[in-house]
Amino acid sequence: MTDETAERTLDAGFFRRWLGVAAAGAVEQAADRLTELDSAIGDADHGSNLQRGFRAVTTGLEEEAPASPGAVLILAGRLLISTVGGASGPLYGTLLRRTGKALGEAAEVTPAEFAEALRAGVAAVAQLGGAAPGDKTMIDALEPAVEALGAAPVSAGTSFRAAAEAAERGAVATVPLQARKGRASYLGERSIGHQDPGATSSALLIAALADTAEAAR
Ligand code: ADP
Ligand code: MG
Repeated sequence: MTDETAERTLDAGFFRRWLGVAAAGAVEQAADRLTELDSAIGDADHGSNLQRGFRAVTTGLEEEAPASPGAVLILAGRLLISTVGGASGPLYGTLLRRTGKALGEAAEVTPAEFAEALRAGVAAVAQLGGAAPGDKTMIDALEPAVEALGAAPVSAGTSFRAAAEAAERGAVATVPLQARKGRASYLGERSIGHQDPGATSSALLIAALADTAEAAR
């Protein structure tokens, strides 16, 4: 391979910067918008839920500074489960914990190994929540992201950006859908015409991943 970033591995510091800094910062910036989206088709708490959760992630990762990628993801997932609440807390917590477990105890992982692990994490979210693509949930952003990671040449910078773009398109594509899972499904047809808050936050998290990879180049 000619791309010198292609073989670059991702260490615990990378994952701490992704979740504790970039994702947490993105959630702070977008909290009002996420809550506004959730006020249209939910109970107006998605932004504040994630804000509380990612503040805990930032603090927890700083205090404990886990030494492996897997341990970073597992700790962040545990903190989200205990602080976010709502439907999204256990779902995001499961995403990170299952991804972390799939990475094992390696001190560094390749982007391809991370892509595989994330695929397992997203599958666990789909299993826990029972949502399929098209149900107007976070799965509509997460699933295209892992598909894009699988398809792209494996280099952290470029494939993470492709995944972020796929997640963003997936989030936008939830607008015309009718919700079939979660609180928004209670609205039936009235959920049509609004972007799903969880798909929106998922796209933010993958964008933060791409930002972190690009900053590390
Ligand atoms: P709550 O709906 O309990 O208030 P949040 O507002 O924090 O929780 O999160 C709502 C988001 O959670 C939704 O926009 C959707 O993306 C996601 N969600 C809800 N239920 C499910 C589910 N069964 N599977 C996948 N995602 C879900
Ligand atoms: Mg809500």
